[in-house]
Amino acid sequence: MSCSLADVMSEQLAKELQLEEENAAFPEVVAVAEGPFITGENIDTSSDLMLAQMLQMEFDREYDAQLRREEKKINGDSKVSISFENYRKVHPYDSDSSEDEVDWQDTRHDPYRADKPTTTPRKGFIGKGKDITTKHDEVVCGRKNTARMENFAPEFQVGDGIGMDLKLSNQVFNALKQHAYSEERRSARLHEKKEHSTAEKAVDPKTRLLMYKMVNSGMLETITGCVSTGKESVVFHAYGGNATEDKVIPPECAIKVFKTTLNEFKNRDKYIKDDYRFKDRFSKLNPRKIIRMWAEKEMHNLTRMQNAGIPCPQVVILKKHVLVMSFIGQDQVPAPKLKDVTLHSEDMKKAYYQVLNMMQQLYKECNLVHADLSEYNMLWHDGKVWLIDVSQSVEPTHPHGLEFLFRDCRNVAQFFQKAGVAEALNERELFNAVSGLNITADNEVDFQAEIEALEKMNEDHVQNHGKKLSVFSGDGDPPIYNE
Ligand code: ADP
Ligand code: MG
Repeated sequence: MSCSLADVMSEQLAKELQLEEENAAFPEVVAVAEGPFITGENIDTSSDLMLAQMLQMEFDREYDAQLRREEKKINGDSKVSISFENYRKVHPYDSDSSEDEVDWQDTRHDPYRADKPTTTPRKGFIGKGKDITTKHDEVVCGRKNTARMENFAPEFQVGDGIGMDLKLSNQVFNALKQHAYSEERRSARLHEKKEHSTAEKAVDPKTRLLMYKMVNSGMLETITGCVSTGKESVVFHAYGGNATEDKVIPPECAIKVFKTTLNEFKNRDKYIKDDYRFKDRFSKLNPRKIIRMWAEKEMHNLTRMQNAGIPCPQVVILKKHVLVMSFIGQDQVPAPKLKDVTLHSEDMKKAYYQVLNMMQQLYKECNLVHADLSEYNMLWHDGKVWLIDVSQSVEPTHPHGLEFLFRDCRNVAQFFQKAGVAEALNERELFNAVSGLNITADNEVDFQAEIEALEKMNEDHVQNHGKKLSVFSGDGDPPIYNE
């Protein structure tokens, strides 16, 4: 095609040719540079939602860019930086930060991870210079804490947190962790307890070891089996072993193991807490030691009774919470409890007077109140009554000592009256007969009120004089009752 010189020299033509060439060489660039938003030609504009979303994205991008500029301005060259990360609007799929790409491959299929992967760079920080983010960064830390929650015990419900970019502060995380651990320990304890209760004769491994040692040392010949499992103790029968220089081992022994796991003892604090013999030590002890103290208490009380000549088991040895004593019974068969035995009326009457005398002796000579005296804790053996189970026994000047004595008296009076012993004193007469006090009230309410007044008097005396009255006694020695 021919053309005039004027045409050739025309500026407009030159521009046209230039444009044509450029279009051929970089077609995409031109298209991208203009973008769909500007031309608006090849885009579907019928969806308002789509349009709105695209506009929002544009806005967010601008907003984030502005934010970044602000961040830079504020942080400057400072070594400590603040992050505006929380204020960013950027869409997860639109992230152009190369840092976020690290580890992405490993985590994208994990629904439990936050959408935006958190990275823990080995060197402890990410970014450079002013944009540095260290491992102490609140957001990074928070996400990491959330992820670490998965390490808690499986039965600990932490929730899944899918789709929630959870960030736990260190304080919250540590509190949760502590709770998870204590829950774990608690459930372990529950399991243990369950196992113990199903195997009713079982004692914990440490106790078993203690018992085996007694056999190994030759003190016991064999442990044959369990005689009784109560709420607070398990009693075993054993054949005695060789006598040592200072000790004669009875041919048959009872091993009373005080349970270390159960809480019933806590309810019985009052028996020991206010007993001045143990008072100083009580507050400093943990539950395990308190239970050892029960065993110790039973030993001391049995020894006192032994010395007074009251029929009761004879102490062989005490090791921690395991008390070995002589066995009341024969050939592995324990003597029956008074509630289970059928006695002739003569024997019953004899038993009654014996119990009455033992109660007086216990009070006067041993300075003790049984505090759990009933037909359940009296055994019939060799034609007489034996007292057992004295771990809770207290001295009469115990703040509740007289109340305990009154309860004992009620149990004893009711049992023997029901058993047909015509001579049996009623509970109030029995109380006066045992204690030597002379409370005259003729009904139970007034009687108990007087008992409590006496206890109060004693306490006041302690407050004022620093020590207790040696023993409650009225007009002197209690009357001696004989058949
Ligand atoms: P708990 O405080 O659990 O009631 P006990 O001392 O009363 O403990 O003992 C429970 C049971 O074990 C008693 O009822 C009795 O049958 C038996 N027992 C305890 N000690 C002896 C013993 N020395 N000889 C024979 N049997 C005993
Ligand atoms: Mg008992």
